[in-house]
Amino acid sequence: MTDADIAVIGGGVIGCLIAREITTRAPQSRVAVIDRDVVACGATRRSAGLHFPRGTTPRVREMADLSQTSYEELLGDEPSLPIHPLALSVLSSNAAGVERTYLGRAGLTPAQDVHGGLITVPRGTSVWTGRGCHYADVGALTEALARHLRPRVAFREGTRVTAVEPGSAAVTLRLSTGESFSASKAVLAPGPWLADPAWRSLVEPLGARVKKVIALHVDGVPEAHAGAVVFEDEDAFLLPLHHRGHWLFSYTCQEWDVEPDDIAEGISAAHLAEARACLERYAPGLAARATSGRVFCDAYSPTREPLVRALDDSARVVFAGAANGSGYRLAPAIAAETADLLRILPGQRKSA
Ligand SMILES: Cc1cc2nc3c(=O)[nH]c(=O)nc-3n(C[C@H](O)[C@H](O)[C@H](O)COP(=O)(O)OP(=O)(O)OC[C@H]3O[C@@H](n4cnc5c(N)ncnc54)[C@H](O)[C@@H]3O)c2cc1C
Repeated sequence: MTDADIAVIGGGVIGCLIAREITTRAPQSRVAVIDRDVVACGATRRSAGLHFPRGTTPRVREMADLSQTSYEELLGDEPSLPIHPLALSVLSSNAAGVERTYLGRAGLTPAQDVHGGLITVPRGTSVWTGRGCHYADVGALTEALARHLRPRVAFREGTRVTAVEPGSAAVTLRLSTGESFSASKAVLAPGPWLADPAWRSLVEPLGARVKKVIALHVDGVPEAHAGAVVFEDEDAFLLPLHHRGHWLFSYTCQEWDVEPDDIAEGISAAHLAEARACLERYAPGLAARATSGRVFCDAYSPTREPLVRALDDSARVVFAGAANGSGYRLAPAIAAETADLLRILPGQRKSA
């Protein structure tokens, strides 16, 4: 007898949504979530939490669509969850690209300006407004998900997995507590901790890499109706964090192959200048007020599509993540693909 049917390693938003998906599909299954820290302490805690209805490939568009529906249902079931619907504005010099990548349900329509002129629209750039956008306090949401799961799911926090050993009948996990933990199958949802010696050799063939992610905090309380602005040409966005009382500006930092445990020094002067220069092109008034922010990292896949893959021949160990800075907005779809790969079908009474 194993200790669990499914062990999920990593208690971030992806790991917790996977545990939720499995127990929804197969309520009798014995699921454990194991995290070396407390739940929602990794990329999840630092996430800007923006969801917008877009995807550069058919699969990612489908994932965005499914995830949006899933978050709408979650919020419908429990309106107190920290998910905040927002208006959406999109700026781009590539109208065909916008047409191709945004979902029909975004209902994009051409517009003249953004936030009554708060944003400067560069020459050659068009503006659209749309719907289906929201942001979440992802850490608080994940904690709420874990709270709901606790009666059905065993949470082992402060417990590091030090080795993952797939066998023919079960997977054995070695734990920092000195114990072993056996499960029929294991899901690795390690966020940016790809290089952990516990699974490095299993994960390396996926070719995923870890990139620094930086978002500036911009002082100034956004007006109640203020929405998100996506700058397509820059792969950047401006987000009113209403629950914190300030704006957030996320830009694309190109520092690769960083280690999550090494990111403690805060935002460097060079990155602060780079991000402010980007914001300056669209909102000079806000750039002057961007003096701080959050810095962490995320896992990126070679194709820029999330990875949901079996890591061993008998598919006892499955990797889920590397969502390229979109791990929040695609997490419900990643969870659904993971449950499919584990062959846990909706309505199943006991997992394999
Ligand atoms: C600044 C920033 C802004 C972002 N903004 C957005 C956004 O607007 N929209 C969006 O969709 N995405 C955004 N992202 C990306 C998104 O937050 C991540 O993709 C997502 O949180 C990844 O979730 P996860 O559960 O895979 O990883 P994590 O939340 O990092 O969870 C991984 C967990 O694994 C645990 N773990 C690691 N090693 C071990 C071990 N050996 N044993 C046990 N446990 C272990 C860790 O403790 C951690 O809790 C942003 C990311 C950052 C950093």
